[in-house]
Amino acid sequence: SGGRWHEHWTGQVVVDLDAIAANAALLVERAAPAAVMAVVKADAYGHGLVPVARAALAGGATWLGVAQLAEALALRAGGVDAPVLCWLWAPGQDVAAAVAAGVDLSASSADAVEVLADAARAAGRPVRLHLEAETGMGRGGATAAGWPDAVRAALRARADGTAELVGAWSHLARADEPGHPSLARQREAFERALEVAEDLGATFAVRHLANSAAVLTDPGLRYDLVRPGIALYGLSPGDGVGSSEQLGLRPAMSVRTRLALVKDVEAGQGVSYGHTYTTDRPTRLALVPLGYADGVPRAASGVGPVVVAGGRTTVAGRVCMDQFVVDLSGLPGAERAAAGDLVELFGDGALGAPTADDWARACGTIGYEVVARVSARLPRRYT
Ligand code: PLP
Repeated sequence: SGGRWHEHWTGQVVVDLDAIAANAALLVERAAPAAVMAVVKADAYGHGLVPVARAALAGGATWLGVAQLAEALALRAGGVDAPVLCWLWAPGQDVAAAVAAGVDLSASSADAVEVLADAARAAGRPVRLHLEAETGMGRGGATAAGWPDAVRAALRARADGTAELVGAWSHLARADEPGHPSLARQREAFERALEVAEDLGATFAVRHLANSAAVLTDPGLRYDLVRPGIALYGLSPGDGVGSSEQLGLRPAMSVRTRLALVKDVEAGQGVSYGHTYTTDRPTRLALVPLGYADGVPRAASGVGPVVVAGGRTTVAGRVCMDQFVVDLSGLPGAERAAAGDLVELFGDGALGAPTADDWARACGTIGYEVVARVSARLPRRYT
């Protein structure tokens, strides 16, 4: 991360680990007395798995959550020994390796519990089991019809020493719409599942339901453990919850590059594939050397906000695989703009530069997708 770094890389992702730790601390305070599981799946929403996990733990989170087995194993390989829950796997994958590494695993059916119990026998230690209930997300989780069988399978596995009953959990579909009736319905369905389990003789160390939006808006959904992801990265879970600024969150990721070329063209110059943009006067253009292979959404064509040459403009014409063009006409620093000038695509929003949420709004997507898709082509640097 020295001064010569730019000589080798076209773009860089700068991740502010102090912001991650501060966001984690805010979530810990808001969640109390519930504990916080920092959701670090998908390479920590593009921010970098192990450094973010460490920063979140430093900020007071005590659990980590991932989707995939490889992500859980990468945390262990990185020396992280906090409890890690992995909630998405399929029979045929090497679940025994995850059991052996002390990774908590989720199951949504009696069959899935049996697979984990077999993996536990292979690994020579009990699996730390979390049962997922379908409460209204319509995704993972045992339905009310399948839940009692899943619980019974878990109880058998506990009795024969292949499982510890650690968690019962579910996931919310509409937490970014505070007060929506589906939230109360999901909460009731979760309560019913817990009662059914208890009647069958199963109790769980941790019950968990809340994502970022729920932690930030509804104390009634916190239970023993909460699973925030997006708020940890300083982005908003949705307009209904508030902007990151209103929520007191600090966006942690900045994507930066340098102008590769500045040049003057005539009026009538079509710009980029398909000529969806054409200059209407002699115009100074600048070339930004990042494209959709770097994770810049192609949907940003014509609309992505760019702060350059002392002002704000948008992507001119289509985003290409490696580059896009901006029109510097009318920008205060257009005369002085030169190849090599630094450009921040998005960041913490300081000094009026766009945030990932601004990019998402312009492109018709969500901040989650903007940061998670920033590709491995851009190395991560930590401050
Ligand atoms: N829990 C589960 C099961 C998830 O899949 C996710 C991510 O989508 C989260 C928690 C974190 O959600 P969010 O980033 O909205 O806080």
